[in-house]
Amino acid sequence: MNIMEIIVGYEEVLKDVSKESDRLVRLYGESLVCKKGCSACCTDISLLPLEWYTLRERITSSQESFIPENTQGSCALLKEKSCSFYSNRPLICRTHGLPLLYLTEEYDAKGTRVAPEIPDWQISWCDLNFTSVTDETMEEVFDPEDVLNMEEWNTHLKQLNQEFLKTEEGAPFRGKERISIQDLFTKTEA
Ligand code: SF4
Repeated sequence: MNIMEIIVGYEEVLKDVSKESDRLVRLYGESLVCKKGCSACCTDISLLPLEWYTLRERITSSQESFIPENTQGSCALLKEKSCSFYSNRPLICRTHGLPLLYLTEEYDAKGTRVAPEIPDWQISWCDLNFTSVTDETMEEVFDPEDVLNMEEWNTHLKQLNQEFLKTEEGAPFRGKERISIQDLFTKTEA
């Protein structure tokens, strides 16, 4: 795959995640208190190289000059409690506030995965939105069809990231697992 195909593939994934998130926002409407001004999820997150590279390209080509606020622990793109690059936000940001399904993997002291044949699925949710949900009630509240399957999205993302690392543009990122959004403004090189 060349860089253009990878970026197009990445944008498709973002579009699909947004579409599914929009469906869940409509479904859980009354429970959701997410709105402009709530930035509880906007911590200093890290991204895969492909996500980081694409975000940097978007910010660099943006007409607006952007100076990050120096708020420790918060995402560097947050300004007055709103995302300054909302339409270009990464995958994880499109899932904020919704119930997410993850596969938890347990490893022993030697780094070997424990019982890989028995997948252990976990749902995480925002306490500000789903105030009455507990570990005991989550399976009754959340239908498996109505949670975001992060395993599926992350698998697509990791595959595209692998392809990206093979390209000339991805070469400076080889050997890097994840990069902080903060580094968009503190480093000039990947
Ligand atoms: S990129 Fe935007 S939505 Fe994502 S954590 Fe940063 S400020 Fe929040």
